[in-house]
Amino acid sequence: MYNSVGKWLVIPSARTASRQFSLSNRCNESRQRFERLLVLDFEATCDSQRGTIRPQEIIEFPVLNVETNGFETVGTFHRYVKPQVHPTLTPFCTSLTGIIQDMVEDAAPLKEVMEDFHKWLLSQHLLNKEFAVVTCGDWDLKELLPRQFLHTGQVVPAYFKSWINIKMIFAESTGVYPRNLPHMLSHAKLVHFGRLHSGIDDCHNIAAVVRFLGRRSSQWRLTSFLED
Ligand code: AMP
Ligand code: MG
Ligand code: MG
Repeated sequence: MYNSVGKWLVIPSARTASRQFSLSNRCNESRQRFERLLVLDFEATCDSQRGTIRPQEIIEFPVLNVETNGFETVGTFHRYVKPQVHPTLTPFCTSLTGIIQDMVEDAAPLKEVMEDFHKWLLSQHLLNKEFAVVTCGDWDLKELLPRQFLHTGQVVPAYFKSWINIKMIFAESTGVYPRNLPHMLSHAKLVHFGRLHSGIDDCHNIAAVVRFLGRRSSQWRLTSFLED
């Protein structure tokens, strides 16, 4: 298994006390290993009946670059994306996400946005730093992106093949497995910023939860992997 920068990653499993000791050491190592956490939350084409639009396509691609000393946001990547298979947004999608047709109409397709994202990673000097992507749940990187890439023939880059599902870290830190982002915010007594299902606002709210967990010294580790 590889980490976000393509180095070997050992996934520990602890059964005995001595192995538990080594697990906690490895968790500490992995906490220190990530200099940056990249908070990501895609929005996608949809209709009121989940599953009726196939393939679902990314229409908003926001990522926040969060440093892991004070857990402040130090950079933002934010693009709307033009869907190719179903180019017209449904009224349901617009009312759910707040994304209107005009916002995607002149936007670049995903292939170009991925190229811009890679340039942004370079501009943020992230490719020579240890970083991990953070998402709320596994859907963004386990289902949406790989399915769309399968459709377009794009290859999933190494840095999107493993990530941190913040719900898992939240559960380990608080003892409560959260249903969703609003549940995490209310449990942590954090004020909900902006609009639910706006990708960039969701990212800011996830980043607030990252800060909350960071201040509790939660242990950051990769929780989820894309199988080849
Ligand atoms: P989220 O990150 O929770 O804002 O949702 C990501 C994407 O999941 C949305 O852009 C929609 O494509 C889909 N989605 C979320 N909630 C719903 C819903 N209630 N009904 C249909 N699709 C949804
Ligand atoms: Mg989401
Ligand atoms: Mg969202």
